[in-house]
Amino acid sequence: MVNAAPVVGDASRLRVLIVDDDEDGAHALAALLVSFGHEVDLVFDGRSALERARLGAYDLAIVDVNMPGMSGIDVCRAIRAMQQDGYTYILMHTATDRSNVLPAMRAGADDFLRKPTDVLELEARLIVVARVAEHHHKLQARAREIRSDSERAMRAARTDALTGAGSRLQLDEDLESVHALARRYGRPASLAVFDVDWFKSINDTLGHLAGDEVLARIAAVMRGELRDTDRFDRFGGEEFVVILPEQTCVDAVVASERVRRAIEVAAIPRDPTPLGTVVTVSGGIAELSPADGSVLEWLARADRALYRAKHGGRNRVVAAV
Ligand code: GH3
Ligand code: MG
Ligand code: MG
Repeated sequence: MVNAAPVVGDASRLRVLIVDDDEDGAHALAALLVSFGHEVDLVFDGRSALERARLGAYDLAIVDVNMPGMSGIDVCRAIRAMQQDGYTYILMHTATDRSNVLPAMRAGADDFLRKPTDVLELEARLIVVARVAEHHHKLQARAREIRSDSERAMRAARTDALTGAGSRLQLDEDLESVHALARRYGRPASLAVFDVDWFKSINDTLGHLAGDEVLARIAAVMRGELRDTDRFDRFGGEEFVVILPEQTCVDAVVASERVRRAIEVAAIPRDPTPLGTVVTVSGGIAELSPADGSVLEWLARADRALYRAKHGGRNRVVAAV
C-alpha cells in the first residue's frame, strides 16, 4: 500500500502497466505513478495483463508475484515470449517473502520492488527504467530508419533510373517467378523483347542526352499500353522486355503489335529535320514452351524472333516458331 505525498519523478513519461489482484494497492500505486507524470493502465489478473501487453507497447510492467490463476512469474514469461517491437521492463512486485525473486528474474523480470512500496526505491527504479526505455526507443527509431532505407534501396535496385521500367535485376526475378508459376500450374505465359530501331543514329544525330530522353519517352508510351499484370523491364541499352503472364502467343502478338503501333503513333522524332522519320521499335515474341529447358532458352527464342523482325525490315513484331 502506498501512502506517500506525491513526488515529481525524474523519469520521462513512461507507459506503465500495473498487474495486481490487490485492487486498492494497484490504484494507490497508479495514483503515485500518475503524479510522477506517467501514463498508467491497471489490470487485476494475469490474463488481462497479457491482453494489454499484446496491444500496447509498455515501457514498464509492475507485476505482482502472487495472484490467483496466472502467477506473476507466468505473466513475466509470457510477456517475454511475445514478439514485441519495443522492450517492456518488468518489475516484480514482491511481498516481504523474497523466495520468488530469483525465479521471477529467471522468468524474464528485470528487477524487483518490495511491498509495501517505498517511494525512494520506486523512484530509483524509475530512473533506470527511463534510461532503458530511452535506449530502446532510440534502437527502435534506428531500426525503422534501417528498414525504410533498405526498402528504398530494394526499390531502387529494381527500378531503372532513366526509364522507370524494371531494372535488369527485376527482369531476372520477373522471368523466374512468371516461369515458375506458369510451369507449376500449367498456365500459358509469353514474353516480348523490344529493341529500338536505328537507335545508334539517334545518339549520333541528336546526342546522347537526347537519346536518353527518347528512351524515357518510349518507355512511357510502352508502359501505357500494358496491363497492370504485365511486367515491363529494361533489358539493357535500348531493349525492353514485356512479360505477359497468362497470355498465349496469339494474345501476346496482339498486345505487342499494340505497343509497336503506339510508339509509331507517338511520332517521337528520330532526327531534327522537319520531314524526319519517327522512332520505331521491333519486337520478338515467344510463348513459354515445354521445350524451353530454362528461362534463358525462352528468352533466346524471343531474341531470335526479334532478329527476324529486324531483318524483315524493322518496325514490326515477329513471333517465335
Ligand atoms: P537496330 O535497329 O539494329 O537495333 O540498330 P541500333 O542502332 O538501334 O542498334 P545498336 O545495337 O547498334 O545500337 C544501340 C545503341 O544504343 C548503342 C548504344 O550506344 C545506345 N545506348 C545504349 N544504352 C543507352 C542509353 O542508356 N542511353 C543512350 N542515349 N543510348 C544508349
Ligand atoms: Mg539493341
Ligand atoms: Mg536497336
